[in-house]
Amino acid sequence: MRSASRALRSFARLRRGANLSPALRTAFELRPTLAAAGLPRRYAAQAEAGSIFSPTTEHQALREMVRSFAEAEVEPQANEFNKAEKMNLPLFRKLGELGLLGVTVPEEYGGSGMDATAAIIVHEELAASDPAFCLAYLAHSMLFVNNLNQNGNEAQKKLHLPSAVDGSKVCGMCMSEPAVGTDVLGMKTNAVRDGDEWVINGAKMWITNGTLDGETTGDAYLVYARTGSTAKEISLFLVEKGTKGFSLGQKIQDKCGMRASMTAELVFQDCRVPAANLVGVEGKAAMCMMRNLEIERVALAAMSLGIARRCVEDMNRYAKERQAFGSALNSFGQMQRLIAESYAEYQAGRSYVYQTAKYLDLDTVGNGLDADGVKLYCGVMGKNVADRAMQVMGGYGYVAEYSVERLWRDSKLLEIGGGTNEAHHKNMVRDLSRKVDKLP
Ligand SMILES: Cc1cc2nc3c(=O)[nH]c(=O)nc-3n(C[C@H](O)[C@H](O)[C@H](O)COP(=O)(O)OP(=O)(O)OC[C@H]3O[C@@H](n4cnc5c(N)ncnc54)[C@H](O)[C@@H]3O)c2cc1C
Repeated sequence: MRSASRALRSFARLRRGANLSPALRTAFELRPTLAAAGLPRRYAAQAEAGSIFSPTTEHQALREMVRSFAEAEVEPQANEFNKAEKMNLPLFRKLGELGLLGVTVPEEYGGSGMDATAAIIVHEELAASDPAFCLAYLAHSMLFVNNLNQNGNEAQKKLHLPSAVDGSKVCGMCMSEPAVGTDVLGMKTNAVRDGDEWVINGAKMWITNGTLDGETTGDAYLVYARTGSTAKEISLFLVEKGTKGFSLGQKIQDKCGMRASMTAELVFQDCRVPAANLVGVEGKAAMCMMRNLEIERVALAAMSLGIARRCVEDMNRYAKERQAFGSALNSFGQMQRLIAESYAEYQAGRSYVYQTAKYLDLDTVGNGLDADGVKLYCGVMGKNVADRAMQVMGGYGYVAEYSVERLWRDSKLLEIGGGTNEAHHKNMVRDLSRKVDKLP
């Protein structure tokens, strides 16, 4: 990692107070560092450089920056955009100014040149305020930007990464289809070479950032399509907004959660893209898919961590303040169990996620077992913790004014998107039976 990444230069700029919104300036002026926030020493250490959660001073500074930004700018808008089922595009573009949209991309393409742990930190911190906003971030920064950085050629990276990294374009990735999700290699969308072009036909479903305005597609997508007769002969294509034959299908509304991230069906009808838009090697994109699924799953697990942390904080605070039968709620054993088990499970999940991120090399595949494992554990954990928070907060937990209701709905997606719990069971047992006899 370079010594002064773009994200950290943004952080330094923020600290100097340059170009800050009033809310963010106040947050930076008033906010003590996490380590000095009055926490007992052993808890504060978790926020300091050298901990597994912030291995270097860069990671620590990144966490402080994103947490300050999330508290000052992401938190206040979350309920409003959830209710309106709209994506907050101006706020999303600010992530580009902060150097976060290309967190894992080298500086030569405008990125911050950081590692998997840095990406995990950003997801954890954004999701603690607004998981839906974070999901849009994940689809753009991991599924498109990181994917293209790993699998694209020099010309494709030079052409497409800078505008995605600075936020002027908002992008996504198309793998799932109306009739194919878990069984992804059974996809029907196909591409046929015709002279200097590829002709793509099919439909992709559930695409995050599939539309930004509800009327048109987003700016660009990485699209998986079949280019041969066997299951694994999949190729990857870059398709841009406005390409003939490429259009927005249905906009998916009334989702249970993640309502401030836009989800859509995208349709390819004799959609012609130049041969130069083939990303990676023809017929070999199953490997690109697997590599990108690893960071996607760890990032989704980090989103569950953000949800869980926030829910533990909220239920703890509420149970301390709320009185019943002349005592604080947190004096009742049943409430203590809900809070204590949530805290312990959150901490267990957090250690597993950061341990996995530490060894996740973005250039290779091979972390599948634990990428599935952290998402399986944290998806269930985040949903359970959100459920317990709602229980502790009673009727107040059930209404939108207290964010737990929104987090509870958002948490469910993390047992489905990026691989269902059952897909993780299947993959993990396959990997364990093939590769593991004795555990270290
Ligand atoms: C809000 C949202 C955003 C999304 N964003 C994107 C995106 O940006 N890009 C993208 O490509 N996709 C996206 N997805 C799709 C997501 O990855 C799929 O929904 C997921 O992979 C599951 O596929 P499916 O919905 O078709 O369910 P199915 O695969 O049909 O599964 C239905 C049920 O059957 C179970 N099942 C299936 N096969 C087996 C098996 N072999 N053994 C046991 N049980 C099985 C599943 O676990 C599940 O419980 C998104 C989905 C949602 C809801």
